[in-house]
Amino acid sequence: MMSTNGHMSILNAGWTLGNDCPYRCRHCYSIMVRTKGRNLHINDANRIIMQLTDYGISVVNLGGNEPLFTNGLNPRDSLLPYILRELHSRQVTIGVTTAGITANYLFENEPEAFRVINDIDVSLDSPFPEEHEVNRGAPLFGQGLKALGACQDVGIPHRS
Ligand code: SF4
Repeated sequence: MMSTNGHMSILNAGWTLGNDCPYRCRHCYSIMVRTKGRNLHINDANRIIMQLTDYGISVVNLGGNEPLFTNGLNPRDSLLPYILRELHSRQVTIGVTTAGITANYLFENEPEAFRVINDIDVSLDSPFPEEHEVNRGAPLFGQGLKALGACQDVGIPHRS
């Protein structure tokens, strides 16, 4: 979109947060889940958040792979709850894409951070559990359904 001063304005951005994942879905396009990337430092997160808001970006989708795993597989090390709170405090509308893992963890362990999410896309490959698991090569159907239930519980718009 072109703004009134003739510059291109960016309204919507995607941020690939994860650097690891306990699963290895066959069709996962993130090399980060196969060769772990470096951990996200809080200074990196702050710089990205500042740049997003400096550019006037009003909608950010957190995904890529599982956005929970910003700092390896231990969710307690994750910067995601911090990032959610920071973006929300700057009036950024936040979407999350997940196979279920991220939504379920936040719902159970970081309910306040979970509630600042505007909308959640849950990746389901099939309405049939067996087909979903075979396609993924990972037992994630239950996690996906649980995440949809968590969204319903707190009234977050969701789709699969
Ligand atoms: S759950 Fe998502 S990030 Fe993890 S391996 Fe599967 S597709 Fe990739």
